[in-house]
Amino acid sequence: MTRLKIRSRLTLSFSAITIFAIILCAGTIYPLVKNIVQNNIENELINTTSTVADMVQAAINVSVRNHLRAVSETNLQNIQTIYEEYKSGELTEAEAKNKAEKLILNQKIGKKGYNYCLHSNGSIAVHPNSKLVGINVDNFDFIQKQLALKTGYIEYDWANPNEGDKKAKALFMAYFKPWDWIISASAYRNDFVSLVNAEDFREKIKAVRLGKSGYVFIIGKDEEVIVHPWISGTMKEFYDILGYQVLSDIYQKKNGKIKYNLVDQNSKKNREKIAIFKYLPEMDWIVASSMYTDEIYYPLKQIIYFIIFSIFISLVLALPLSALIGNSITIPINKLVALFSDAAKGNWTTRSKNNSPDEIGVLSRKFNKFMDDFQGIQCNLSTEVATRQESEYQRKLFEEVFNNAMEGITITDFNGNIIKANPAFTTITGYDVDEVIGKNPNILKSNKHGKDFYKTMWEEIVETGHWVGEIWNRRKNGESFPELLSISAIHDSSNETTHYVAVFHDITEMKSKEKQIKYQSHHDALTGLPNRVLLIDRIAMAISRARRQNTKLSLFYLDLDNFKTINDSLGHALGDIILQITANRISEIFGNQDIISRLGGDEFVIMIEDVKDEFHLINQAEILLKAFSKPYKVNGHELYVSTSLGITLYPDDGEDPGTLIKNADIAMYQAKEEGKNGYHMFKQEMHDRIERRLNIENALRQAVNKNEFAVFYQPKVNIKTGKVYGLEALIRWVQPNGEVISPAEFIPLAEETGLIIDIGKFVFKESCIIQREIIEKTGLNLIISINVSGRQLKHHDLIEDIKNIVDNSGCHSKKIELEITESMLMDNTEKTIATLNQISAMGFSLSIDDFGTGYSSLAYLKKFPINTLKIDRSFITDMADHGEDESIVQTIIDMSKNLKLKVVAEGVETKEQAEILKKLGCYRIQGYLYAKPMPINELIPFLINWE
Ligand code: C2E
Ligand code: CA
Ligand code: CA
Repeated sequence: MTRLKIRSRLTLSFSAITIFAIILCAGTIYPLVKNIVQNNIENELINTTSTVADMVQAAINVSVRNHLRAVSETNLQNIQTIYEEYKSGELTEAEAKNKAEKLILNQKIGKKGYNYCLHSNGSIAVHPNSKLVGINVDNFDFIQKQLALKTGYIEYDWANPNEGDKKAKALFMAYFKPWDWIISASAYRNDFVSLVNAEDFREKIKAVRLGKSGYVFIIGKDEEVIVHPWISGTMKEFYDILGYQVLSDIYQKKNGKIKYNLVDQNSKKNREKIAIFKYLPEMDWIVASSMYTDEIYYPLKQIIYFIIFSIFISLVLALPLSALIGNSITIPINKLVALFSDAAKGNWTTRSKNNSPDEIGVLSRKFNKFMDDFQGIQCNLSTEVATRQESEYQRKLFEEVFNNAMEGITITDFNGNIIKANPAFTTITGYDVDEVIGKNPNILKSNKHGKDFYKTMWEEIVETGHWVGEIWNRRKNGESFPELLSISAIHDSSNETTHYVAVFHDITEMKSKEKQIKYQSHHDALTGLPNRVLLIDRIAMAISRARRQNTKLSLFYLDLDNFKTINDSLGHALGDIILQITANRISEIFGNQDIISRLGGDEFVIMIEDVKDEFHLINQAEILLKAFSKPYKVNGHELYVSTSLGITLYPDDGEDPGTLIKNADIAMYQAKEEGKNGYHMFKQEMHDRIERRLNIENALRQAVNKNEFAVFYQPKVNIKTGKVYGLEALIRWVQPNGEVISPAEFIPLAEETGLIIDIGKFVFKESCIIQREIIEKTGLNLIISINVSGRQLKHHDLIEDIKNIVDNSGCHSKKIELEITESMLMDNTEKTIATLNQISAMGFSLSIDDFGTGYSSLAYLKKFPINTLKIDRSFITDMADHGEDESIVQTIIDMSKNLKLKVVAEGVETKEQAEILKKLGCYRIQGYLYAKPMPINELIPFLINWE
């Protein structure tokens, strides 16, 4: 079924249903109708038979009645006549009655009929059976009817006392009033059959038509055919005729129905017939009606024809109708199918226009919706496919580039391990790709760059995601080579670095050419020294370095004195030689770190980095000037060429190369003006300071040589006991003119120049000698504190020198205290601890000077063999004004107590300060409040006079 098209299926279904419905209807209706028709027809036959029977019966009745009436009327006439005779007197009444009685009784009625008379009271007046006369018989039904009617006709059934069956009887009455006689002529009705004339109704019966060819017929006694359309006589005459058997059956059965076949005389066809027949007993007749059944069933045939016709028409209609309905379904479906095929061919824009509310409309809308969605997906898909194709193309392109690039390319993962390298990488480095996968690119590292270089490089990559620069790497064969390297960080979508790509170009060749060009463009052809361009570049680099490291750098601007004269008089060739010799001389003095440049002519610039202070420069300048004091030996000439120097300092005299050079030039002219063969600092004050310092230094040197020093002593008082318990030795420089210079002014210089070692030894010696003198002159064995500078402490001969002094002077080391500053403890700790332990072991006490200005912590102090803390003067000075300083002092005092150290306050100038210190628990006091540092000749009386 499903293999058939919808249209065919519909046609088949329609037809089947129609046929089935019609057959179902027909099957139900036909038997029903058949039954009805059959019944109707049979009824009609029965009715016809009955009607004909009734008709015959009626004819019989009429005959009986007429006959009886005639008898009855004759009797009445006869009695009347007799009664007339009585009346006329011819007869007596009894004679008359008797005569009448005989006359009545003699009257014959049929075979068994007779007359009788009734009185109106019901008693029999005359009767053939004389025994019955006088008997009242009004108990019989028909008698009562007689009594009621007196005249007329009645029918009834009667059986004589000796007879079993009742038989149909009839009587006709006439009433003779004068004698109250109801004269009744009574007889059995069948006695009168002979009287019935068949001709009376033959025509009527013949006229009866049943269907087309049905008819009525009557068979009488002894097989006599009484009425029949075409038969007369007796049945016997038809023995040879087919119909005889039928007639015979009817004759036997008398009542009923039979069906039989008979050859139709007209059509000669054997046709079924039906006959219905009824017996009339009075006449001993059988009335029958018969007809062809096909005539009966004609309407049924019509129905069958109608049914067949209906089926045919239904089928004829079902075909186009189902085709029509089929089309109404299949045409839109086929359209949709066409749309589907269209879509299948790739037409994504195809849509159904069907918007009907039926299922196909729904399907169409679903189709459209599907296509919309599909088109959307298709569109996305196409975009994605295009994107993928594009990225695939890009990938291939990049792969091509990667594989064919002249540049070496490596890709590393986030940890810096190589995951990919290209053929150029192998060509340049000599490493196979397989060898380097998983390795760090530092296998290529040369030792040409310091750690800082890589650090800076990676900092830049991390910060900017990119680095480009030249770098020296090493090939597999060990040869180092320069490359132009670009490193880029690759980020993922969340901006996390996932890879690094390094692209490099071997620039060895380029480099060597470039180097040559660069060298030529950056160097002076005559001397081979860097020219101005390179100088400026280097100064710029040095400046940025100095800025970073917070150091200073300096430029020496050097110009030969009177070079023009030499050049003019002895020729340029000789001048060139002098310039070359000059370059050599400078180079011999200044090492690799410094830059020597020839700006042109006889002008040179020397850049010195990491300048500690101006004195360091002066030192260099003097060495340089000294180098020019030697004669130039050229072509047999012995020439003296002095030079003038201008000095600038970064950042003091300029912050860029141009300014620094220009100012150095200016300073150089200053030196020329000052008489040549000298140097000049760009800033006058600096120049002055240097000059002054140089003078002092010279003077200090002389002072040491000539021993222009004196030691002053400042007493220390214990305010608890009120006694002087110690002294601090403080050096003084007493110049020949009597001027006393403060140690604050020359001690730093002495430290720098190293003169402090000698000065220190002097103070130590003096103090030891004075110790003895004080004991001798005052009897006081005071603790003498001697200041020891950092330079002294670091000096390798310190312990040896002290030993010698103590041994030579015979002083008590137990009564000598060394004052060292807090800052001295901080640097060179291990060595310092060792030295201090040695000193301590020799019996000397140790005091921390200027305590509180450094960063000493409790734990830190414990490391040193210290006896005393000396609170710095600055805290004491501010103590009265600032609560904060008081709390610092308090802290120092508490701390010294915790450490079991003595504590001394220095610089105490007021009573108030002393009071506070006393309150805080510090009793050792040094300061102008009690005494200023004083020479020995003042000290002795001071001590003697003290309290
Ligand atoms: P210092 O070791 O802190 O010495 C104490 C300084 O304070 C001394 O100055 C002293 O005169 C001064 N002074 C004392 N009491 C008072 C006061 O009440 N008010 C004021 N305003 N000042 C007071 P001086 O003598 O000028 O010495 C200066 C520095 O020179 C010393 O400071 C010490 O660091 C150094 N010095 C002195 N003599 C020597 C020495 O022989 N060898 C070494 N290496 N350094 C020395
Ligand atoms: Ca001191
Ligand atoms: Ca001090």
